[in-house]
Amino acid sequence: MVQRFLRTRSKKKVQKRASKETRLKFKAKKVSPAHCAACSGILAGVPRKDKAELKKLAKTKRRPQVPFGGHLCASCRKTVFEEAAMVSSGTKEIESVRYKLLPYVETVLKKL
Ligand SMILES: [Zn+2]
Repeated sequence: MVQRFLRTRSKKKVQKRASKETRLKFKAKKVSPAHCAACSGILAGVPRKDKAELKKLAKTKRRPQVPFGGHLCASCRKTVFEEAAMVSSGTKEIESVRYKLLPYVETVLKKL
């Protein structure tokens, strides 16, 4: 009998042949890549590993070492800093900042 935690359709079954006998093995699902919080694009520099595997990595290897690394993609990060600069200089109103970028812009403004 298969172990209880393997009795699921979500794990892929693989027939493996090891020295004359074929055995049924279960393949773990691949973890989906991390997505940007603003534009939902795929984040670069974030490994595709499950939580347990990520914990084994060094903290600096889990996400890029930049502000909002692991949350926002490079283009959204650039936009956040540009908008924060425009708001602090008075050329743009805080209300006209894109809704999804607003919490990040407010964080940058607090640190200025
Ligand atoms: Zn993005």
